[in-house]
Amino acid sequence: MAGLIPQEIIEEINRRVDILDLVGRYVSLRRTGRNYIGLCPFHNEDTPSFTVTPDKQICYCFGCQKGGGPINFLMEIENLSFVEAARKLAAELGIVIPEKALSPQEEKKRQERNQIFNMHKLAAEFYAAQLANNANSRIAIEYMKKRDIPQELAKSFMLGYAPDNDWEALCRHLQKKGYSYALIEKAGLGGKSAKTGKLYDKFHSRLIFPISDYKGQVIAFGGRIIGDGTPKYLNSTETPIYNKSANLFGLHQAGSNIRKLDRAVIMEGYMDVLMAHRYGVNNAVASLGTALTKEQAQLLRRYTDKVLLAYDGDNAGQKASLRGIEILRAANFDIKLITLPNGMDPDDFLKKEGKEGWDNYVAHNSLGVLEFLLNAALQKFDKQSVHGKSSIVSELLPAIANTQSVVERDSFIRLMADKLGVLPETVYADLRKSGLKIAAPKAAAAKAAPLNINLSSKTAPLLRIAIENKKVFDKVEAELGLDFWNTKAECLLAAVVKANYSDYNWQPATLLEKIDEMQAGNPQDLANIKEENTRKSVQNEGIKQFLLKLLSKEFPEDNNLRLADEYIRGVKIAIIQQEINNMLERLKNGEADPELLSALTESQKQMQALRRTGN
Ligand SMILES: [Zn+2]
Repeated sequence: MAGLIPQEIIEEINRRVDILDLVGRYVSLRRTGRNYIGLCPFHNEDTPSFTVTPDKQICYCFGCQKGGGPINFLMEIENLSFVEAARKLAAELGIVIPEKALSPQEEKKRQERNQIFNMHKLAAEFYAAQLANNANSRIAIEYMKKRDIPQELAKSFMLGYAPDNDWEALCRHLQKKGYSYALIEKAGLGGKSAKTGKLYDKFHSRLIFPISDYKGQVIAFGGRIIGDGTPKYLNSTETPIYNKSANLFGLHQAGSNIRKLDRAVIMEGYMDVLMAHRYGVNNAVASLGTALTKEQAQLLRRYTDKVLLAYDGDNAGQKASLRGIEILRAANFDIKLITLPNGMDPDDFLKKEGKEGWDNYVAHNSLGVLEFLLNAALQKFDKQSVHGKSSIVSELLPAIANTQSVVERDSFIRLMADKLGVLPETVYADLRKSGLKIAAPKAAAAKAAPLNINLSSKTAPLLRIAIENKKVFDKVEAELGLDFWNTKAECLLAAVVKANYSDYNWQPATLLEKIDEMQAGNPQDLANIKEENTRKSVQNEGIKQFLLKLLSKEFPEDNNLRLADEYIRGVKIAIIQQEINNMLERLKNGEADPELLSALTESQKQMQALRRTGN
């Protein structure tokens, strides 16, 4: 986390960033009292609930509960790591981050990677220019017309053309820009002819699809042959910047929509994704020519935990779906699948039926994993014969055993039994006999119970002032201790501040990052919290949301210190009132101990004194 960038730098960034300007680049904001609000960029909404609190340097969505300080916001919206986001903001603010010295080898590698990134950017521009200007690109343009790719779509995916009349055009272009042949070859953009030893372009006579990483940096290319020839699709080989199993085609374009819709659609090919975006299915991505991989699933998990697999309706597509299910299940995705009619692929289907037809089809024909597997088995075996029935059941048993929800498992077994014309009990018996390990129900306890984060608590406003003002915090601790808070969330937050007291600079954004680090399990930070239970509870995600909510809420706060005194007095009165009530209760029950009586008198005196100071 922050480990790589010194804490003082992080604090300087948090202090100096204009959060209104930063958020304002993505959200249109209007003022309401002390805060600004706008439509949340992280979820779909009609009434604004995304709140920016400039004097605290934080933002928070009362709808989806996302938000944080400036660095958090940039991480979330641009999908950057903490360090990347901090660096970006530092660069804008002109804050210099002291570099950790790299070894000469590391430095060489870093430079080489940078050069290869640059070469890919130049190559993408070169191919796009060829598409626009090369006289021979006419056939590419005709091909695009035939495939229904309009200009603006081609632009947003940076499509290009690799000429057929000059097989060294790109290599020469890059060499002119100062790149050596050795590096062009290493970048996978050119290859040496075994015969002549000359370098020629990897791609020619092809429509070029640049492949970007999630940040939009071009890292590789796919090329579709125009006219006849093989292979139909040619892709970049792996290079120091490109690992095909760790990237998804279209993720840069689809990322924010996947977040908003909270679901990704995974398709097979470039053209499917292009058409999906053309027709408004703008949360579509493609695995790059290979079956879906574990790394791709992990990458996608940063955006959503729900996917719709929309592979081609042919046999290969169905096989890829089966493999995809395994990978996505292992990564705990909620999976839906569709099989398009008549072996169509999404490209064909969208051209024919448009977005409305697509949405409609998905709504009525998407299947859960078990139903999908059952359909596949029903096609494979003859359900009329006894042998067919038993083959279908055995084929499905592992997936049934693997289903965590008891309700889902049971209702599926009933559905399957019904389709096969057997009794559900028979399937249950087979399941028991199979010796398969039945998945335990998802333990509800594994997920920490959400904190009660309502702000109606009487002590919340006091905590709000205390976490922003050291003097108040000290005063609260001295006069009341730190255990009097009305809710568990308040107790926890106070404990976190206390644990970080020595280097806490009373900036809310910094506290948010502290919590992030603790939740990421930074042992050093956690060690400061003495009590085991508190240490565990800090890892509860709710605490960050509680802090954000607390900071984003409008409280009256003209004079913090005066207000704090008022609140402290209020808490003292409440505590003493409680004691008095207890003692009165005991008296009522017949206890008449002289000590009890004098304690009661003492408390009543204190109460009078407290009430007097209020006037
Ligand atoms: Zn939201």
